[in-house]
Amino acid sequence: MTNKNGQSQFSLLQHNNQSVVSSSIIFISDLHLTTQAPDILFNFRNFAESLGNISSLYILGDLFEYWLGDDASETLGHQEVEKVIQKLSEIGVKVYFIPGNRDFLVGEQFASRTGTKILKDPTIHEFFGVKFLLLHGDTLCTDDKQHQQFRSTVNSAEWQTKFLEKSISERDLLAKSIRFRSDEKKRYTSSEIMDVSQNTVDTLFSSTNINFMIHGHTHRPRIHKWEINNEQFFRIVLGDWSNGPSWLSISHTGMSLHHGQNSEFISYEET
Ligand code: MN
Repeated sequence: MTNKNGQSQFSLLQHNNQSVVSSSIIFISDLHLTTQAPDILFNFRNFAESLGNISSLYILGDLFEYWLGDDASETLGHQEVEKVIQKLSEIGVKVYFIPGNRDFLVGEQFASRTGTKILKDPTIHEFFGVKFLLLHGDTLCTDDKQHQQFRSTVNSAEWQTKFLEKSISERDLLAKSIRFRSDEKKRYTSSEIMDVSQNTVDTLFSSTNINFMIHGHTHRPRIHKWEINNEQFFRIVLGDWSNGPSWLSISHTGMSLHHGQNSEFISYEET
């Protein structure tokens, strides 16, 4: 696999200044965990226990159906989820978390309890010599004006401080009245129904000079590949977990995306 400057094959992955050859790196998103859906937690626990050999797990947002602050994890019944992640950290898996539009309030207390590292949206990480943009994906859905408005409100430090000062039950009520906690019966809001804007994707690629991105949010798992002026671009979309585990795995041979009964594989020779 070569990057856009035609440089090198597989480079070593850097972790804490130590070079490690990674067997594989796993990406998941959009589990929308809630005590209302114990089967998804069951699948997540089994999935995590099967991940012995990986170097890193990236959670690209909406791990939780909603999050009311790190001090409300127990109230929402998420101790078990934290335990599953903490176990992975303990066996040496680097766990990274980019908060989504449902769990944007996941913070440093959660991170220290579980051993995860919270990353900004978007973050650029290099795997096997190639730079990837990592993001939740809702910032790409710019046609959803209502969602973008919501996003800019709740992303302000002032809004978050005020929200977190309230009691947990007040936060719960407020979360229901605004958009990040939807009606129990219709679990997905219009923000998940809208797809990305291709213009916004192109702009992000050209402003960062990067050709690969991985995101979730839209629940439309697929490896999109296209070419402009002999240059290849890849947009890998992770799936939600409503039909079982969905994940992307990147190794030195290629990338494979799994969702439901389907999987797509792209070997680096094709790129
Ligand atoms: Mn989302």
